[in-house]
Amino acid sequence: MGSDTEEIVQEVALVTGAGRGIGRAIAVDLAKSGRFVYINFRSNSEEAEKTLQLVKEAGGDGALLPFDVTDEKAAHASLDTIYDQKGGIDILVNNAGIRDDMLMVWMKADNWQRVLDTNLTGFYNVTKPVVKKMLSKRKGRIINITSTSGQVGQPGQVNYSASKAGLIGATKALAKEIAKRKITVNAVAPGFIETEMVEGLPLDQITQAIPMGRLGTAGEVAAVVTFLCSPQAGYITGQVIGINGGIC
Ligand code: NDP
Repeated sequence: MGSDTEEIVQEVALVTGAGRGIGRAIAVDLAKSGRFVYINFRSNSEEAEKTLQLVKEAGGDGALLPFDVTDEKAAHASLDTIYDQKGGIDILVNNAGIRDDMLMVWMKADNWQRVLDTNLTGFYNVTKPVVKKMLSKRKGRIINITSTSGQVGQPGQVNYSASKAGLIGATKALAKEIAKRKITVNAVAPGFIETEMVEGLPLDQITQAIPMGRLGTAGEVAAVVTFLCSPQAGYITGQVIGINGGIC
């Protein structure tokens, strides 16, 4: 029970790529306990507006924060907006990601670079300035959305697998760098999750290869992310948590 004078501090979260799919589910789940959630996306503002509506319906509040995570200057300017409005970020979820699948022999430098720029350099562009502020506050949670592909390698996804494996390395290294300041850094590695990203894949064939015989849902990923943001998860850092129906 809090006293009348006790201030209730609303936590502030930033979820990149929260306009649709897994990012939307994470934004909504984090909002359930009254958090303020910044919803980042690249260009689809109609879908991002829907996410904001769902965040409010879930009991939280939020704001849209469009920027391209590959653009370092744009990312920094948007983060400054958050610091001006809210003074800090308690939770950062690096979720924005793309795939551009093809066999390595057909892969052009651009197919490689675009995926690495979004999935890995995007993490750097957003996380570095956030970490600097978290260090001085001695508080923070960072969750990176990687993939089964980054854990085991997926044919046709050399670029995507490399970017997601890189994210796992970055998670483990950063966790060790900042653990003493009570900031945790973890990765969540979904398998095949029902979102627009898996459209066009041979889903019947894929489902047969998943021990649980079904794709996962964005809500199942979001629940783990929210747990990693809870006080109960304060001693978990540098870990990669698979959500994949037993595929690896
Ligand atoms: P979706 O394609 O459904 O959504 C992607 C989101 O990321 C959109 O909101 C999109 O914005 C945003 N985005 C893409 N590029 C950028 C960028 N450069 N800057 C800012 N935002 C960007 O993807 P999922 O929800 O399926 O995937 C989310 C994350 O989960 C990704 O990192 C993905 O790699 C990972 N993942 C997904 C799996 C799956 O099976 N779905 C499995 C394993 C990992 P906009 O709407 O404006 O285009």
